[in-house]
Amino acid sequence: MTSKIKPQPGIMDIALYQGGQSTLPGRAEVLKLSSNENHYGFSDKAREAFLKSARTLHRYPGTDHKSLRGAIGEVHRIDPDNIICGVGSDEVLQMICQAYAGNRDEVIHTEHGFSLYPILARAVGAKPVSVPETDRRVDVDAILRACTARTKIVFLTNPGNPTGTMIPLADVARLADGIPPQAILVVDGAYAEFAEGYDGGISVVQARDNVVMTRTFSKIYGLGGLRIGWGFGPRAIIDVLNRIRQPFNLSDTQLMTAEAAVRDRDFTERCRVENAKWRHWMADKLAEVGIVSDPSSTNFILARFRDAGEADACDAHLKSEGILVRKVAGYGLPHCLRITVGDESACRRVVHAVAQFRAMAQ
Ligand SMILES: *Cc1c(COP(=O)(O)O)cnc(C)c1O
Repeated sequence: MTSKIKPQPGIMDIALYQGGQSTLPGRAEVLKLSSNENHYGFSDKAREAFLKSARTLHRYPGTDHKSLRGAIGEVHRIDPDNIICGVGSDEVLQMICQAYAGNRDEVIHTEHGFSLYPILARAVGAKPVSVPETDRRVDVDAILRACTARTKIVFLTNPGNPTGTMIPLADVARLADGIPPQAILVVDGAYAEFAEGYDGGISVVQARDNVVMTRTFSKIYGLGGLRIGWGFGPRAIIDVLNRIRQPFNLSDTQLMTAEAAVRDRDFTERCRVENAKWRHWMADKLAEVGIVSDPSSTNFILARFRDAGEADACDAHLKSEGILVRKVAGYGLPHCLRITVGDESACRRVVHAVAQFRAMAQ
C-alpha cells in the first residue's frame, strides 16, 4: 500500500546540503580549509560574553533582539529598526523565501551561487532558476533577462562563494532597479567584511524598497558554531519577516556573544588585514607553480586546475598531507578547488603541498 502521507510539493526534490569535510580517516589532526572559517578563532570579548550568558540559562531570552540590533546599528551606522536577526544568515534567507515565494514562483540564483538557495526555494514549493555567470563573474544582464512575471526573489552573493569575485555597487544598484516590481533582490554579504571599501550593499538597500542585505557572524567574526546572522532591509519587509520569525529563535548566549563580537572592531580589523595579506601571498605563490585564481574579495581563493582530473588529484595529495580543502564540482566548477585562507603557517603548508604536487606531476 502506498502511503497517503506526502510532504509538500518540491521537498522530495531537495538534495541534502553538503558541508565542508572536517575529518580524515586515520588522522587525528587535520588542517581544515574547507568551510571558510576564521583561523584566528573569535574575539576574547565574545568569549567572555558567552561565559557570562551561562548565568541566566534558566531564563527565556528576549524576543526583540533590541540590544544586539542596537549594537549592529551603531557599528554599521544603520537604523536598528530595519534589522532582523536569525539563526545564521541562513534563517534570514529562509524567512525571506517562506514569506515571499510559494508554489510555482521562481527564485533566481546564479550558476556558481551558494547551494543553499535552490534548497530554500524548493522547500517552499518554488522553482529555482539558475542563471549563467561569465568567467565566474555575476552577469547582471543575464539575470535581468531571466526575470519573468513569476520571479519573486533574486539571490546575489557579493562577493561570491565559491568564486570569490564581486561586482561593483553600481551593478548591484542596476540589478535592483531592473528586476520586476514584484521581486526582491537579496544581497548575501557573508564575505562583505573581507572586501576593501565595500558596505555590503547598505547604501543600495537604503535607497530602495526592494532590496534586503544579509550578513553573518560565521565568517570574519569566527562564530560559525554559534549560529547567528542578520538582515537589513526596508521596514515593510522586516515587519513581514518578524511575523513569521519564531519569537525565541535566538538564545541569550547567541545574542550576548554576537553583540560583544560586533563591538570588538579591533579584532575584526586585525582579521581583515591578516586575511588580505596571506590571501595575496597564497594566490601569488600558487600562480608561480601554474595554479591561477581570480582576484578574491573573500577569505578563500578558487584555485583553477587544467581539468577536473588534476583538481581531484591535487585534492587527494592535499588530503594525504592532512589538508582539507573544498571540491566545488557541485557548483559547476569541477576543475577548481576552494581553499580557505588560513594563518601564515596554514598558507605555507598549502603552498608547499601544491608545489610538491605540481613537481610530481611534471
Ligand atoms: C557562509 C555563508 C553564509 C553564512 O551562513 P550562516 O547561516 O550565517 O552561517 C551565507 N551565505 C554564503 C554565500 C556563505 O558562504
